Amino acid sequence: MAFENLSTKLQETFKKLKGKGKINEKDLKEAMREVKLALLEADVNYKVVKSFINNVKEKSLGANVLESLTPGQQVIKIVNEELTNLMGTTESKINFSDSGVTVVMMAGLQGAGKTTMSGKLALSMRKKNKKPLLVACDIYRPAAIKQLEVVGKQIDIPVFTMGNKISAVNIAKAGVKHAKENGFNFVIIDTAGRLQIDEALMEELKDIKEEVNPSEILLVVDSMTGQDAVNVAETFDKELNITGVVLTKLDGDTRGGAALSIRQVTNKPIKFIGMGEKMSDLEVFHPDRMASRILGMGDVLSLIEKAQQSIDEKEAKHLTDKMFNNDLNFDDYLSAMEQMKKLGPLSKLMEMIPGANSKELQGIDFDEGEKQLEKTKSIIYSMTAKERKNPSLVYSSTSRKKRIAKGSGTSIQEVNRLVKGFEGMRKNMKMIKGLQKNAKKGLFGK
Ligand code: GDP
Repeated sequence: MAFENLSTKLQETFKKLKGKGKINEKDLKEAMREVKLALLEADVNYKVVKSFINNVKEKSLGANVLESLTPGQQVIKIVNEELTNLMGTTESKINFSDSGVTVVMMAGLQGAGKTTMSGKLALSMRKKNKKPLLVACDIYRPAAIKQLEVVGKQIDIPVFTMGNKISAVNIAKAGVKHAKENGFNFVIIDTAGRLQIDEALMEELKDIKEEVNPSEILLVVDSMTGQDAVNVAETFDKELNITGVVLTKLDGDTRGGAALSIRQVTNKPIKFIGMGEKMSDLEVFHPDRMASRILGMGDVLSLIEKAQQSIDEKEAKHLTDKMFNNDLNFDDYLSAMEQMKKLGPLSKLMEMIPGANSKELQGIDFDEGEKQLEKTKSIIYSMTAKERKNPSLVYSSTSRKKRIAKGSGTSIQEVNRLVKGFEGMRKNMKMIKGLQKNAKKGLFGK
């Protein structure tokens, strides 16, 4: 889970503070020492940690936190604000070109996640009604062009290639021309990376920049490489004057040092984060929401946005209506599960819920939960179409239950559990409806 270690440490520190009615300067100093250690352990740049702690201390003393009624809460509030500032305060949007065709150049070391991110960005732009084109400029790594083509195919977005016998600069130029002539308005240039920064790489990138004059030069860095990522960003920025940073693999970065240092060190905004290998695992970077997540205060806004993007509103309304009319059947149950699944794995959803970073939740086996969902689905799939539409057919028939258990590779007890749960849900809905009716009649008073 992203920021797992830092999150746990900070929450432990703040729990101690919150537990005290009043705190004195010594408590504050001790808490700040713990925050400092937690940040250093998270691999945050030393200078960044130092100025961060100074800012928090200064603000806490200046705001007379110690005399306030809820000093613990006040300190958390200040830390939250400072964490947000550290990461850039507000969301940084993509610079779109006024000329009609926006050109984005992706740069970064090999393996940072450029090709994956190019695909994710293309997909997210298409959702915004742009017409994206991917341009394959990595002519050195043998499988690079093929990889971009595979990504393009997966999301059904065209890829412009000219093989690897032509210079990257010429491919980039031809790619932009092709876009202009064929109605594309968002060009993503996937450039070559190297294992380490070298002069030839930088020269090539500078030449591409000169030739295509991109609106954005996004540097893709692997957040799991911690301070190395920060150093890479500093060098690329000096040479290329990048316009933004994309942090990938944040899903696996339990420390978070790169995310917390890169903005301060380079003074360039983090624009997107990669939270997984799937094409839909792209998130716009919101410093305030990330700070909340780190402090275990959740990220309900991102969760709602994700739901809005992923859930079919008409289907959701249809399901709710059926639920209230109490004619929900097993087909609807399946559909509800499919909708849930679109939001992503349970473990990732839990990260966005307030308090979910706490130790108690970290002990939950989310994989087991996913397995249960799969089991439930296979039980329903083993029912006949008629049974799915009429749950009552299954309720009272042992022979049907036996057949379903056999078909789904489960036991009759497991089928019973599902059927009982479903029956219970329908009974509850009936009761709620009854209560509503009574309430309307005024039986419960005003
Ligand atoms: P490139 O050499 O910079 O083009 O890097 P790739 O796009 O080929 O990515 C390198 C590896 O990192 C691939 O296995 C990707 O699936 C993986 N990867 C990329 N982005 C993410 C991410 O956000 N999270 C995770 N877990 N893996 C990622």
